[in-house]
Amino acid sequence: MNLERAYPAWFATCAIAGALIGKTMGHGAIEGLTTGMLVAASPIVLLALGHVAMGFWRPVLPPCRCGRCNHRQYRLEAPAPGDTAAGGAPLRFRCPKCDRRYVFSPGRFDELPSEGPVVPYMRHTKWGRWKLS
Ligand SMILES: [Zn+2]
Repeated sequence: MNLERAYPAWFATCAIAGALIGKTMGHGAIEGLTTGMLVAASPIVLLALGHVAMGFWRPVLPPCRCGRCNHRQYRLEAPAPGDTAAGGAPLRFRCPKCDRRYVFSPGRFDELPSEGPVVPYMRHTKWGRWKLS
């Protein structure tokens, strides 16, 4: 089922049913229509609230080692020359507070020291939360 097509049909069905029920019950078609539209919009509101809650429970990126930068404050860096891994270059981030650099790969977030090898930092657990490596 295609939700892009099903949702307008769901919305119209709820609005029409609300108007008919409101008129039949004596509350008025406009009040019934309004109630039907609110019922139709409720899945969108619930999905948005769930999305916000999931963002707090399992953020896209973990906090920086310094503890002063959260997942919204990282700066995305341009890919390094020669980064041509399969599936695209890995995403690199920099903490604006302490200038630590990180590389993100699916399920992993590792520190990139200015010299030396990559230092494992955090990885996803099976529920998608971040855990120290
Ligand atoms: Zn930092």
